[in-house]
Amino acid sequence: MASTLIVGSVAFDTLHIAGTCHSKVLGGAATYASLAAAHFAPVQLVGVVGRDFPDSATQMLRARGIDLAGLEVADGETFHWEGRYSEDLSSRETLRTDLNVFADFKPKIPKAFQKAEFVMLGNIDPTLQMDVLDQMSKPSFVLADTMNLWIDIRHAELIKLCSRIDMLVLNDEEARQLTDQKNLVRAARALRELGPKYVIIKKGEHGALLFHGNDVFALPALPLENVVDPTGAGDTFAGALIGCLARANDVSGPSMRRAIVYGSVLASFCVEGISLQRLHEASPADVNARFEQFRKLTNF
Ligand code: AMP
Repeated sequence: MASTLIVGSVAFDTLHIAGTCHSKVLGGAATYASLAAAHFAPVQLVGVVGRDFPDSATQMLRARGIDLAGLEVADGETFHWEGRYSEDLSSRETLRTDLNVFADFKPKIPKAFQKAEFVMLGNIDPTLQMDVLDQMSKPSFVLADTMNLWIDIRHAELIKLCSRIDMLVLNDEEARQLTDQKNLVRAARALRELGPKYVIIKKGEHGALLFHGNDVFALPALPLENVVDPTGAGDTFAGALIGCLARANDVSGPSMRRAIVYGSVLASFCVEGISLQRLHEASPADVNARFEQFRKLTNF
């Protein structure tokens, strides 16, 4: 089993969902991804929080075997994001982003983490994502996530990052925006021409597509009756995927497909609870039962 390094935001989120406000619950891309990855492999988290970050949260992450030696505690307040979801939860608007200590975040990779073989560069400035890679020895697999903000304001840097990663994970809108291609198959080809051998295009409740060589793998999302909070589903998907690859220490076809299924399994738990609640509660037996549900769903 190889180790996994995850870099990204650790946050408080204020979520407006179905008329209820969930104020300052635990969130952040790296938090979701780490908790998901920890279901499969040892995780090393790199991020920053403020002095207001509660011990209960660090204890919960540690109890999951997540190594927090790279979680810097800086003077100031923890990153805070506030969003409101549409009634059907299919879209959301950002009401507020308080970068706080995240504004000066310069990821420092502890020496003991520099040899990690599997790396997830969560959604941060691509310049910082490249700084992280500069500090690593020689990871065998690097996955990067991104968002529309960086496509807009750090386009050239994002293109440069693409030449240094193995997998790019982004949603359909972002894939179209980054490539100027409306058709997702063409967009994926254009993205792979920038460097990553693997491109995953996420389509929210409609699942995900993996493009690799001449291969396309499509996986639906599990049809769920009880969707409560979609926050962090994408990060959870990517975290579980990298954790699963690290566990197998293998990125060949069957292992990659399995990792995508586990990514979708963990994402399905993520959306069933507010914040990280359901992701935290899911047991190995729950995870395996859902893996089997996916097998039935897609077997014909
Ligand atoms: P997702 O739903 O997968 O897009 O991820 C949601 C998580 O991303 C939330 O928990 C937020 O705290 C975090 N987040 C929101 N905006 C940003 C940003 N600009 N940079 C880093 N993380 C963010």
